[in-house]
Amino acid sequence: MIKTDILIIGAGPVGLFTVFEAGLLKLKCHLIDILPKPGGQCSELYPKKPIYDIPAHPEILAGDLVDNLLKQCKQFQPGFTLGERAEEIIKKPNGIFEVTTDKGTIHQAKVVAIAGGLGGFEPRKPNLEKIDFYENNGISYFVKDPNLFKNKNILIAGGGDSALDWTIELSNIASSLTLIHRRNEFRGALDSVEKVQELKNKNKIKLITPSEVVSLIGDKKLEAVEIKVGDSENLILDVDHFIPLFGLTPKLGPINDWGLEIEKNSIKVDNSLDYQTNIPGIFAIGDINTYPGKLKLILCGFHEAAMMCQSAYKIINPDKKFVLKYTTVSGVSGFDGTVKKADLPVRKSID
Ligand code: FAD
Repeated sequence: MIKTDILIIGAGPVGLFTVFEAGLLKLKCHLIDILPKPGGQCSELYPKKPIYDIPAHPEILAGDLVDNLLKQCKQFQPGFTLGERAEEIIKKPNGIFEVTTDKGTIHQAKVVAIAGGLGGFEPRKPNLEKIDFYENNGISYFVKDPNLFKNKNILIAGGGDSALDWTIELSNIASSLTLIHRRNEFRGALDSVEKVQELKNKNKIKLITPSEVVSLIGDKKLEAVEIKVGDSENLILDVDHFIPLFGLTPKLGPINDWGLEIEKNSIKVDNSLDYQTNIPGIFAIGDINTYPGKLKLILCGFHEAAMMCQSAYKIINPDKKFVLKYTTVSGVSGFDGTVKKADLPVRKSID
């Protein structure tokens, strides 16, 4: 059982910034994300693309923005439940929300902030017979722990950044690694394509294109795959793991059934104050919410996070008064004991 002040569903940029804003108010946060790493769309869809409209960053790579957000909120020691989907929510008689994931992890908090973006990202699965049987039994759609692939025979399929990045990373630890793609051209970053080509030239990996898996073989677990290679005869490849990386599709998923007011796949909130939903104590911030004039931009999500934390403070500390202070004046006291305090400005007297 995980207990916290604010439970954040979604560890995208908005969820991560919420940890910082809540921390300033001495509120602890825990984040749940279906993905194995934080960063939401920025990490998963465009980590190497530059963003130009983050205030005070004329240009920043989406992946670097996530790294900076993680660095900024680290002092407030957020907890993470990664690789799990928030599935169910109930309000207990004592007013506490209890959120359970698809893996059965239970979280309790007085306030829930849904920062679920476009919804949970679900992997695009290849259309193969008996694929369900081999899932987590030789087939993985994410690389949660690279060590699981140490000294194994691995097949990766896909033509985008994830397929290229994991090929590069796992080629260091795998016993053998084959990358296949149904086209000869890859969609990923040019430098990754070049690195993969270099690994192939050095015989560190096998690269087979155009090709695709057509059947899965193995009695109890995956033992081999049959692949179609252009117009040639099909090949049988012995593998311990097959990692199809064909991208992710967002789905609102279980959040649809939580009794929240939904409009066009988004959660309706009150934007006159604090982005609260129709259920008091549950807020929705970032891309997942809707209100008149909503802009699905990171900077708008940051603003919404700051506003909702003020209301969360009042719910969690009904008897305490909160006075807004500039961080330049109050400094920042991390839960890990770090204190950042600016020197007091010297006041000049006015004659
Ligand atoms: P997300 O980043 O979508 O994160 C939500 C997280 O919630 C996800 O990780 C998801 O897995 C998780 N989640 C959802 N449901 C559940 C559940 N039930 N259980 C557990 N986890 C769950 N914005 C800009 O401001 N400037 C730009 O230049 C810009 N460029 C973009 C370029 C591209 C290619 C794309 C795709 C988007 C771009 N955006 C840009 C939009 C920006 O990425 C989004 O506004 C931002 O990611 C929203 O952040 P978020 O934290 O609200 O949601």
